[in-house]
Amino acid sequence: MSLQERDKKVIWHPYTQMKGALPQIPIVSGEGVYLIDEQGKRYIDAVSSWWVNIHGHANAHIAAKVSAQLLTLEHVIFAGFTHEPAVLLAERLLPLLPGKQEKVFYSDNGSTAVEVALKMSFQYWSNKGNKQRKKVLAFKEAYHGDTFGAMSVSGRSIFTDPFSEMLFDVEFIDLPNEENISELVAKISGLQSQLACFIFEPLILGAGGMQMYEAKYLDQLIEVCQKNEIICIADEVMTGFGRTGTYFACEQLTERPDLFCLSKGLTGGTMPLGITTCNQQIFEAFLSDDKLKTLYHGHSFTANPVACAASLASLDILLEKETLVNIQRIKIQHARFKEKIINHPKVKTIRQTGTIIAIEWETGESTTYLSSLRDKLYNYFLNKGVVLRPLGNIIYILPPYIITNEELAYIYGTIIQALDEI
Ligand code: PMP
Repeated sequence: MSLQERDKKVIWHPYTQMKGALPQIPIVSGEGVYLIDEQGKRYIDAVSSWWVNIHGHANAHIAAKVSAQLLTLEHVIFAGFTHEPAVLLAERLLPLLPGKQEKVFYSDNGSTAVEVALKMSFQYWSNKGNKQRKKVLAFKEAYHGDTFGAMSVSGRSIFTDPFSEMLFDVEFIDLPNEENISELVAKISGLQSQLACFIFEPLILGAGGMQMYEAKYLDQLIEVCQKNEIICIADEVMTGFGRTGTYFACEQLTERPDLFCLSKGLTGGTMPLGITTCNQQIFEAFLSDDKLKTLYHGHSFTANPVACAASLASLDILLEKETLVNIQRIKIQHARFKEKIINHPKVKTIRQTGTIIAIEWETGESTTYLSSLRDKLYNYFLNKGVVLRPLGNIIYILPPYIITNEELAYIYGTIIQALDEI
């Protein structure tokens, strides 16, 4: 049996309607921006494999550090014990985050990083004896993960539909803009005594369709929240580690969130790891002689040493001058591409934040994740050797930073061909 046939017998794939699913492509190796299948066909990974592989695949520096760590200490329970990679990673990461972040809490993916942030926020108020602040403020079309807490604070959509009755109540607001900002600020002030926290994806809603919004309006929302003691949680799971042009999207704000959620690019896409960081004020609300004020949360793989070693190696590369130059270069290439196709009749809108560019395809209908165009586009790009996973009728590029101008030009050319041919 081929790998595809064996896969079909035993595997249930994520985000996949298994009825009539096309055979999954067996990938045998990765090399820089390329994924290579059994037949030797090479695909440019233009979405960094679900936004994680910021430095591309099979990076030698990360591999060497991971391999050395595996032979030294592969895992240890993180309650009662600690280790060098976890401490060093926290020491190196905290000063990079905007504002004064003081503590790192480890978990193992983006959703768990969000769960921890929500639990820290709810328990912060409970530890302070406040029983009123139980609600979360979030954006209507946000995406924060697939576990129940993360789903609850995500926009209601086809992803959450079957579970809608099990999700906790959230106060949803529109993305801020010139027209609605005063109304949103007034709404938050009115609700303040009920709100525990405000969770947001800074500057860009990822899975919600790569919707972008301006830093100055987010600043105003954070400002009113902080005036009203509402804890501000920046979900930088997707935007972190250079994606928006700065190390963290929140560097582009003047206000400073209280908590950060990180994952994806954290390990350079090598290993699963999640991080929730907090400021001193949040941490101190848990310090007590009363055992009930403890944050009773932890995962078996909390602060896995190999994942921490991968993160340290990924951070080495991220901080190299060459990586910053690459990020700026991708920004410029995207901006040029945007100018080139902005007037194409099939381009409804085109938008860019840092290394992310998104094109909304004019279908004559409203934009939807279930657009029939999606599968057509996905297969068209695969045939051309490019991995792009449109969100419905929205095509986006979110490449590894090592991508060359020639490889970008190939992706742009393929998109233009699709616009002309489909
Ligand atoms: N938050 C954001 C902003 C995300 O984009 C994602 C994943 N796409 C998550 C949280 C959840 O991360 P994970 O898939 O690792 O659970």
